Amino acid sequence: MDDFRRARWYVVRPAASRKPATYTCPLCRRQLPALSQHMLVLPDGDGARRRHAHTACVMKARQAGRLPLREEVEPRRRGWLARLLRRG
Ligand SMILES: [Zn+2]
Repeated sequence: MDDFRRARWYVVRPAASRKPATYTCPLCRRQLPALSQHMLVLPDGDGARRRHAHTACVMKARQAGRLPLREEVEPRRRGWLARLLRRG
């Protein structure tokens, strides 16, 4: 049902919504007016699973290590040139 927490990493970005909707923050479960300043959180970078979250909740979760970003989980792979040069 709620697979928000089932992700290896997240993409976090500021939300820019003009819709007068109300969302439920996945981090505190409280309501979030879309027109207030908040964040978009994409589990595994998947836009279809994106959730609107309070900025303060995102900051708190980040500090608690609960919203790892992709670059923290998957450090950039070596480039093809480095791999080529390592061979042989
Ligand atoms: Zn919240």
